[in-house]
Amino acid sequence: MAYLPKQVETMAADSPFRFHCHPGVPCFTACCRELELALSPYDVIRLKQALGLSSHDFLERYAIIEFAKDDLYPKVYLAMVDDGRASCPFVDASGCRVYHDRPAACRTYPVGRGVSLDKHGAKKEQFIIIREEHCRGFAENQTQTVHDWQSDQQTCDYNRCNDLLLPLLHPSDHSPPRQRLSSEKATLFIDTLYNLELFQSRCSQNSTNCAASPDDEPALLRSAIDWLQQQWQTVR
Ligand code: SF4
Ligand code: SF4
Repeated sequence: MAYLPKQVETMAADSPFRFHCHPGVPCFTACCRELELALSPYDVIRLKQALGLSSHDFLERYAIIEFAKDDLYPKVYLAMVDDGRASCPFVDASGCRVYHDRPAACRTYPVGRGVSLDKHGAKKEQFIIIREEHCRGFAENQTQTVHDWQSDQQTCDYNRCNDLLLPLLHPSDHSPPRQRLSSEKATLFIDTLYNLELFQSRCSQNSTNCAASPDDEPALLRSAIDWLQQQWQTVR
């Protein structure tokens, strides 16, 4: 395990921790500001559906797409509001306006989950807990295991969809390291995984069978990932 900052601790799935976040904590919604909140394709599906927006309109209104020079692939961040506090666009005095569909990072906090593939393609899960000083949830009187927390926060669909990206984004322990995407591949990456309507329309135009109903966007995402893997064999 690499060096971890002092407020970060590795956890097992059955490790207990004391934590409770609720509207009565003095720091309520303090953590919904000044965030670098990266969104996965499934986060975008859930948020845009909750807001009744197309992927295109969601990305236009609420996202920043960045391809930092040290990154291997582009990232989509939730754009914070310019209100002097860099607030999340979905926070208000009563809490999170998209609570039922909030991103995975908001659900699992203060627990983080990392996944990699071993040489047989099997998933290896690792967990950490982040004890930030401003977070008063650790002083509350509720204890749960990491596993129970994941279940309570309903991360199952998020984890399942996010893990589909593993073969694209993270090589197994025994694969050669990935290289930074070319700009052409990076554009294809965003257009395909973060704009499923565009992906589907391109499939229709090219008579490609994407094998998923437009109403089943998680299944459409799976098709988009498979398609992108095939394209990456041919696009430089
Ligand atoms: S800082 Fe911690 S306890 Fe406070 S609202 Fe955020 S997660 Fe909850
Ligand atoms: S999406 Fe909801 S929980 Fe997440 S940062 Fe915004 S307001 Fe907070």
